[in-house]
Amino acid sequence: VTITLEDGRTLIDGMSSWWCAVHGYNHPVLNQAAKEQLDKMSHVMFGGLTHDPAIELGKLLLPLVPSSMQKIFYADSGSVAVEVALKMAVQYWYAAGKPEKNNFVTIRSGYHGDTWNAMSVCDPVTGMHSLFGLALPVRYFVPSPTSRFDGEWNPEDILPLQEMIEKHSKELAALILEPVVQGAGGMWFYHPQYLREAEKLCRKHDILLIFDEIATGFGRTGKLFAWEHAGVEPDIMCIGKALTGGYMTLSAVLTSNRIADTISNHAPGAFMHGPTFMGNPLACAVACASVRLLLESGWQENVKRIETQLKEELAPARGFPEVADVRILGAIGVIEMKRPVNMGYMQRRFVEEKIWVRPFGKLVYLMPPFIITSEQLSKLTSGLLKVIQKR
Ligand code: PMP
Repeated sequence: VTITLEDGRTLIDGMSSWWCAVHGYNHPVLNQAAKEQLDKMSHVMFGGLTHDPAIELGKLLLPLVPSSMQKIFYADSGSVAVEVALKMAVQYWYAAGKPEKNNFVTIRSGYHGDTWNAMSVCDPVTGMHSLFGLALPVRYFVPSPTSRFDGEWNPEDILPLQEMIEKHSKELAALILEPVVQGAGGMWFYHPQYLREAEKLCRKHDILLIFDEIATGFGRTGKLFAWEHAGVEPDIMCIGKALTGGYMTLSAVLTSNRIADTISNHAPGAFMHGPTFMGNPLACAVACASVRLLLESGWQENVKRIETQLKEELAPARGFPEVADVRILGAIGVIEMKRPVNMGYMQRRFVEEKIWVRPFGKLVYLMPPFIITSEQLSKLTSGLLKVIQKR
């Protein structure tokens, strides 16, 4: 759980390297898996060939995801998984004889990655639209739900999406959402009822539902995957980040037999995406070890313990004059400030407090590795409060 700087100082990690290093760093089990696979075979093309680590990973993952998810497509990174999911939705409607259904709707404050189409469904204000907007495909955006995860459901939250879908369903291939937790677009936790209502609209108007579980997957929100908070099964689901425990880049796009078969039973007879490093065996082998380690490690107790401690120890920040909101879900603790923070200053101060925290905009947040001890977590939270109180 620590990062050692060149000068020998050791920092307690509060970021899990952007959601991925759930087991911490340099884990002997993951190291071993990488070494063993390296001695067997590090890569082979995944077109026309398959290999043990990819098959094993598929067998491990399928029982963990919604039962409607029966097919897996391995991709290179989270952003590429989102590209693949969007392409899958478009190719599905092409194969189903409705090629005009090729656009997307999403909610504001979302974040789905940095590549072209992933960028196009990120929040148009907090995302990179201001820079690349004119070059990006134009998507449909509705306000993100205002009902808090732990608050009352406000039925009006769904109305903008309903209106948008009723108006544009003929051209919409899919709705893409980060279920329950919006990450880099605002660190906002919204009410699971939104997902149930959104699903009803999608089913009624023949629009696919894509869940981006790249950040929320593998236990971070207190459930293994965030869809479980709502019980809503998507048509397509993206996973990544913690899939390899943060060892190397690998993602997966999961879908139903119905979507996969519709695509495969129509010309050109295959899903049109074939990256060179698809299903890389080293990444798959480490992913297998990481998923097993997670399942055997008692992640629920760890995440619960972290959640309880974050709730207790970050609570005093609610009384700070500069703090607008404090919210905690699973192993994620967010302090939203009233004004954007001075990142250069804060980063330096956090390092002085021997903790690794990297805020953005108005958001100062923690998502530590699940193996963090209570003592280490206390150092993180107390260091964080000290810095934001005196910024
Ligand atoms: N979707 C979500 C929800 C994410 O949080 C991220 C990464 N922050 C991505 C997609 C993109 O993943 P990657 O950085 O691996 O391309």
